[in-house]
Amino acid sequence: MPPPTDRAAKSSTTRSDVRTYKGIGVSPGIAIGRALIIETRVASIYRVPIREEDVQSEVTRFLEALDKTREELLELKQKVSRSMGEEYASIFEAHAMIVTDASFADKVAQKIEFEQVNAEWALSEVEEELQARFQSFDDEYLRDRVADIKDVSERVLVNLQGIAHHDLSEIKHDVIIIADDLTPSDTVHFNRRPIVGLVTEGGGRTSHTSIIAKSLFMPAVIGVPRVTKVVDNDETIIVDGYEGIIIVNPTPALIEEYLSRTTRHAEAEKKLLENRDVPAVTRDSIRISLQANIELPEELDDAVKFGAEGIGLYRSEFLYISKSPLLPTEEEHFNTYRMLAEAVAPNWCVIRTFDLGGKKLAREVMGSKEDNPVLGLRALRLCMKHRDMFKTQLRALLRASAFGKIKIMFPLVSGVQELRQVKTLIREIRNELDIEGIAYNKELQIGIMIEVPSAAIIADVLATESDFFAIGTNDLIQYCLAIDRSNENVSYLYEPLHPALLRLIKGVIDAGKRAGIQVSMCGEMAADPIYATVLIGLGLEIFSMNPSSIPIVKNVVRAVRYRDCKRIADTALLKKTAQEIEEYVIESVAMRFPEGLVNKPE
Ligand code: PEP
Ligand code: MG
Repeated sequence: MPPPTDRAAKSSTTRSDVRTYKGIGVSPGIAIGRALIIETRVASIYRVPIREEDVQSEVTRFLEALDKTREELLELKQKVSRSMGEEYASIFEAHAMIVTDASFADKVAQKIEFEQVNAEWALSEVEEELQARFQSFDDEYLRDRVADIKDVSERVLVNLQGIAHHDLSEIKHDVIIIADDLTPSDTVHFNRRPIVGLVTEGGGRTSHTSIIAKSLFMPAVIGVPRVTKVVDNDETIIVDGYEGIIIVNPTPALIEEYLSRTTRHAEAEKKLLENRDVPAVTRDSIRISLQANIELPEELDDAVKFGAEGIGLYRSEFLYISKSPLLPTEEEHFNTYRMLAEAVAPNWCVIRTFDLGGKKLAREVMGSKEDNPVLGLRALRLCMKHRDMFKTQLRALLRASAFGKIKIMFPLVSGVQELRQVKTLIREIRNELDIEGIAYNKELQIGIMIEVPSAAIIADVLATESDFFAIGTNDLIQYCLAIDRSNENVSYLYEPLHPALLRLIKGVIDAGKRAGIQVSMCGEMAADPIYATVLIGLGLEIFSMNPSSIPIVKNVVRAVRYRDCKRIADTALLKKTAQEIEEYVIESVAMRFPEGLVNKPE
């Protein structure tokens, strides 16, 4: 493998040199296309004093950026109005009005003049002042404008700094997106074609961007250092999401080789699908339920195709993210939930209430930025603070429960008190629905995600007040091991088989069993065929995962005995490090599957 080169080194070589870069493969598959580099980070803003004679040109620079922003917003308004209707388009009109508002422009211009500072600094100061003023209003409508000011200021800043805006959904030819980082909302807006692959500098194996890429069957490699600097626009790239590498400027022979690999993978995947209609039962007759995690209703087809037995996790916040900046109405919530429940009948559909905040955009509801968002106003906490928004979702969920087998699940519960508070809110909504004569399922099951270490530790107590548990390992690992799940710098420490994790998982499964409630796992750990043996051995009987992982996990389930898995889990629990456990588990699986996990052992 040739060593990575950077821009400086590249300038002395020809543009046809083959270069390979290593990252983390987070969404399997091979994609071949031409690079499109996008930068999403807004550079830091510094206060730069300017000379008196430069003040006028600085004001002009700001006014030009303002004009450009207004034009962009009006163009966006037209586009949105054509594709989504006037109601949505009015948001952008409102943003254009802020840009045109003389008091906004004057304030920034005056700051540049009086304080003799750069436009970026003046803009950010004015943005802060306006946000503070709007936040102090009693009127909710005015308070909600804080998000608009932030949005508009960011756009102006981007134009001031000359960073190109990309409307990714507009790209019409086959491309590989090369980015410093991508938000889940960027990713969710990708059309499956023409964008054929993703490569980023940032991110983690279980970041939501990675999860979405997998859902879209978009081969993706993340954590490639400086990739936006070492690749040029339009260079041909092979993205190998299986191995976690990208090849820039491949030779025709390499392209040929990768195309034939794609065919081989497709054949292997087709073979795996042969088990679609057989149940997931171990050789000693333990029945395992394999369910689907979905983010977008469009994934229902995949859930059916790969043989999911219901939806174990619908990440409802993506309903919000795809509608942002608007909040979904009660009818939009209701229609989505009813449709999902009816589509998966007679199986269950577990709908998780909004898990916004953290790294998942929640601009419209958050208002201000947090220093530590992952430990901040996120998920259930955010929803309980914004009761009106939350009640809209809960009312719709209760109403939809009359039409199918729906269960409600709350994210990021850290203790009993939070669970009691939200259950009180649900009782209030039930009373309202009773008064209005609106039907709902009176036996509706209410469960929680176990993804905060405190919840896992007191799982026995929570089990007395919760109808079911779903272990969310993506966050449980993050919070237990103090590893930001989206941070490429510490991704090497993100270890699902860490002894602390295995003990927590075992404790939760045991507590659920003792209390007689169901325990599932819907974190990415549940989708890994190697880990499946340990999890079965720990007593897990419900796995929920991205639909395309179901066939391979089912193959493992059908090939093993629970009693062997228990032996593997018991031995793993005695080991001291994640590495020791991993080596031991891999070795045990290799003995059972000498030809690899795709083929069944003799
Ligand atoms: C988890 O944390 O494991 C989980 C399933 O939720 P999310 O990935 O959406 O945070
Ligand atoms: Mg989570």
